[in-house]
Amino acid sequence: MRILRAAHLGMCFGVRDAIALALEHADAGPLTILGDLVHNPTVLNALQAKGIAVTQDLALVKTPTLMVTAHGTSERTLARTRGLGLAVVEATCPLVRVAHRAVAALVRDGYHVVIIGQRDHVEVRGLTGDLDRFDVVLDDDDVLALEAHPRLGVAAQTTQAVEKVRRLVDLIRRRFPQSDVRFIDTVCKPTKDRQSAAVEMARQVDVVIVVGGQSSNNTHELVKTCARYCARVHHVQTDADVRPEWFDAAEVVGLTAGTSTPDDVIDRVEARIRQVEAWTQTV
Ligand code: SF4
Repeated sequence: MRILRAAHLGMCFGVRDAIALALEHADAGPLTILGDLVHNPTVLNALQAKGIAVTQDLALVKTPTLMVTAHGTSERTLARTRGLGLAVVEATCPLVRVAHRAVAALVRDGYHVVIIGQRDHVEVRGLTGDLDRFDVVLDDDDVLALEAHPRLGVAAQTTQAVEKVRRLVDLIRRRFPQSDVRFIDTVCKPTKDRQSAAVEMARQVDVVIVVGGQSSNNTHELVKTCARYCARVHHVQTDADVRPEWFDAAEVVGLTAGTSTPDDVIDRVEARIRQVEAWTQTV
């Protein structure tokens, strides 16, 4: 059985830098992270082992310093945080900042903002948190429910599949032929690289294993993308989730991972697949 790793997989620079920043600040003093720094339980456990607190609620912060995650946040939330007397460390990814600037430009130019993404995702809450009026769409039904506006400005959550984003932008244009629809592509390059490498890999294999946290959006997008090219796709969080029966009669197994998955977690999953193969050869 051959294992084929996608040409681009696993942790992106934005997540890597955010983790490094958290560890640096934790060494300097008590730190609380607002929300999941990354959507990966292995990384979160490692941060908590360093004494870093994580909370979803500003009111529960007990340290003098609060970190905003790589997903970013709104100016309103930042102002509220500073109003509570907390020092703020921003680990916002530069490519999330690009998306914030795109949204600000659309507003400045008089467009009604439509974000393609998950309404309750922390990044989307950050992108829309300073807007009084906006829409968030994730599928065709959401587009069909949109109201008409003379100018519609569309941007995307950075981790959405770019093919889906382009398809929904086309649908918005067809639904509102009278409107000026402006699209700014804010899907980040690491997400695009992982998506296209996953397609390339999934076309060549019998089974795909996607490694990533259950709440990681880009990991779920990788699962959906791979499932279009390979019938046997499995999502695991760690090597403990790998099941021997998945590899029956498989000659080539593909491996990919979301942008918050550390290298050692991917390596352990690969080692586990090789272990499973060794067992099946001895029985
Ligand atoms: S997925 Fe993209 S936007 Fe998000 S942290 Fe990584 S590089 Fe930045």
